Amino acid sequence: MDKLREYTIAYSGLKDGSHAFAFDLDPAFFEAAADEEMPAGDMHVDVELEKSATMLVANIHAMGVLHTTCDHCNAPLELPLEGRQRQVFHLTGRQWEAGNENDEVVGLEPTDTEVDLTHYIYECMRLALPLRHAHAPGHCDPEVERALGALNTEHEPVPDPRWNVLDQLKNTEE
Ligand SMILES: [Zn+2]
Repeated sequence: MDKLREYTIAYSGLKDGSHAFAFDLDPAFFEAAADEEMPAGDMHVDVELEKSATMLVANIHAMGVLHTTCDHCNAPLELPLEGRQRQVFHLTGRQWEAGNENDEVVGLEPTDTEVDLTHYIYECMRLALPLRHAHAPGHCDPEVERALGALNTEHEPVPDPRWNVLDQLKNTEE
């Protein structure tokens, strides 16, 4: 996805310690992510950045709603979303010894002065995204529910002929 200025943090001037940043994701963020199946939404993102001489740790907390449609009834759906993601950046260049296998450490060059968090904010949301987007049970569009219900009763499942063959096989075995 495109790099966006808004979500870039200039860390070189920051003192060691913890720093808080807040972002409201604007339409450009979702446009940049459009090729990656992320519906648009209203999301607020808090980033706690811990800086030390050798490392940057970004604790990303994204919360809000995505504007999507229900997989079941196809009506508009406000999908609540909350995700947390921890990203570690090593400041001493890309040749580092990864010490902690649980963290995916990203190397930044000693000459770098800023870090673009667009990708990591996106990842934080993508990992929190449920596979299925649907209303809570009983909250789907009632008209669609009725139509689907009518469809189900009109089309009684036709027995699959293969089951008959299986039944016959069973019968001959008995
Ligand atoms: Zn629905």
